[in-house]
Amino acid sequence: MPATSSHKPYRVGRSKTGLGLFATKPIKKGTRIIRYFGPILDSRIPEHDEIENKYLFELNGRWTIDGSVRKNLARYINHSCRPNAESDVRPRERKVFIRAIRNIEPGDEINYDYGTDYFKAYLKPIGCKCASCEKKRKKLRAEARAERAKVKERAERKAEKAGAKTPKNKAAKTKKLNGHALGKTNGRARA
Ligand SMILES: [Zn+2]
Repeated sequence: MPATSSHKPYRVGRSKTGLGLFATKPIKKGTRIIRYFGPILDSRIPEHDEIENKYLFELNGRWTIDGSVRKNLARYINHSCRPNAESDVRPRERKVFIRAIRNIEPGDEINYDYGTDYFKAYLKPIGCKCASCEKKRKKLRAEARAERAKVKERAERKAEKAGAKTPKNKAAKTKKLNGHALGKTNGRARA
């Protein structure tokens, strides 16, 4: 792991998806945290255009920063759909800075939104792992669970009623109704 000097307000650390950049000091909203830097690639130069890695930061149609260099600690910053920082892109200066858009507390992971193109190409197919999306998924799972419980309860009540009318058949009928209702809910939850 690369060493970070102590006067910087961040460090590289373990995140849910590998490594990430974490605040070590309070960072005020609006503060420039770190520069995303590396060699500048010119798309008009064929050798430059051939370079491919996941740390390329496009400034515009022509210029791209190759952020794969070791010293570029900003490359550790992960994507979030509800980030606490943003990329301040300056194509004319060919520079990118990462800036806080919220107050960040020590221990918080620093994130910015990688943008729609990146999301569609890399995150959507595998499912975004950012805290905001995890939370959304958790909520959906809880709702599906509650819905399944409701349907099951309804089926049981129905079975009880039916059983009361024909006591002899109670066991068989309950089983059948339950199986039917559960099969239906599972299908809906998956869709
Ligand atoms: Zn997300």
